[in-house]
Amino acid sequence: MTLFYRLFGARRPEQPHRPTADPDRIAVLEHDLLGIQPEPGTPAARVVALAKPVDPARCPHEDVVEVTELGQARPTGLCTRCGADMVADDSGDWQRP
Ligand SMILES: [Zn+2]
Repeated sequence: MTLFYRLFGARRPEQPHRPTADPDRIAVLEHDLLGIQPEPGTPAARVVALAKPVDPARCPHEDVVEVTELGQARPTGLCTRCGADMVADDSGDWQRP
């Protein structure tokens, strides 16, 4: 029976490609295009908040990536939220230079 199906078309019907809806992406688009605020606490609200330009003076600089190059005396970093340059102090905490 298996051979029969193999020979005479047990091919599964092709699944039509359906674009999957990403609710977070939709919420971000709603915010950007229509000004609709996403529900607080949802991933979409976080995405919208992160997409806003951040004032370096008010940014907590919590998401710092290290960008130290060879020969630099201190580890240097870059805040991924506001783009501020950061320098590690003696205890390893990121500080604004
Ligand atoms: Zn920052």
